[in-house]
Amino acid sequence: MSNASTRPQGPDLARLLIMGPPGSGKGTQASSIASHFGIPAVSTGDIFRGLQTASTPLAERVRGIMAAGGYVDDETTNAIVADRLTASDCRDGFLLDGYPRTLGQVDTLDEILSTSGHRVDAVICLQADEDELVERLLRRGREQGRTDDTEQTIRVRLAVYSQQTVPLMETYRNRGLLAEVDGLGDIGVVSTRIYQALSTSGC
Ligand code: ADP
Repeated sequence: MSNASTRPQGPDLARLLIMGPPGSGKGTQASSIASHFGIPAVSTGDIFRGLQTASTPLAERVRGIMAAGGYVDDETTNAIVADRLTASDCRDGFLLDGYPRTLGQVDTLDEILSTSGHRVDAVICLQADEDELVERLLRRGREQGRTDDTEQTIRVRLAVYSQQTVPLMETYRNRGLLAEVDGLGDIGVVSTRIYQALSTSGC
């Protein structure tokens, strides 16, 4: 279900972020929001998963970190994102899915954007109950075979998210950019909530 009248339009919302705990559905929502705005969805999780298959020292390091449920170090992550954002498809906007995830990454993103006179326009944050998240991730692990969707790794990922990434919500809330959305429900229902939150948050 969608409600075109509540969707924000135009270039005012061109540089978007989506954050949320593992299993909150941010990858799924990122694809539909990005296609609505005609901007690419850039997922650091997808970039790192793509890297994993290579036989390089970086790939090996990323494999180990992801299997354990931790975060790839800021230096590596920032360099990868800075490079990706120079691609021509990101010139007029993008939706970053899963970046920034640490306060250090927030600073780097600000620096990257300021060199081209831009800034973050809005931050979508999906909320979900922890028990529901664990259940969803275990189901995804069974269905898709994602190696980081095991019970032990899921617990680590949720803890790392609350320690390292939840503080970013305060940062973006203070900037007046945070659009908090209930991530539970059908995909289309959540998308509609996101469009409504973006249009009513005054981002
Ligand atoms: P989820 O949100 O379910 O954890 P993602 O696909 O967004 O899934 O990320 C998968 C993994 O990729 C993370 O657990 C982490 O190891 C790594 N990763 C993704 N984005 C970042 C980031 N911005 N900083 C550090 N590590 C990241």
